[in-house]
Amino acid sequence: MIDSPRLAPSGGCICAEWPDRKIVPLGSDTANFDDEEFIRVRDRTPWLRLVRCRGCGTPWYLAIDTVDDDYYFRRLSAAEAAAIKQSNIWPTDYDDFASVWPKPSDLTGVEIRHPWT
Ligand SMILES: [Zn+2]
Repeated sequence: MIDSPRLAPSGGCICAEWPDRKIVPLGSDTANFDDEEFIRVRDRTPWLRLVRCRGCGTPWYLAIDTVDDDYYFRRLSAAEAAAIKQSNIWPTDYDDFASVWPKPSDLTGVEIRHPWT
């Protein structure tokens, strides 16, 4: 836990000071970032999942964009996390993200390549 500058400086969790929407570049030093810092709770697809911070337990809706090489984290409320776990109801945040679905051409409407920028 002391060998990486991207960890939280105080030794706490990594997400405490993140905004509700956070982009983390996907690179060699963050290749396993999602599993190192977060606990996988529920998979929606290989690219979309519900995770919890290992430090503080905050639920996040994670999208892994392997085309543009970014992680997208959207902070979830307790109610949103419960809806996913209990009813398989997922927030719509990533529904138009072209690069986090297996067949982007199947998307309808606007396809966003670089959201949240
Ligand atoms: Zn955290």
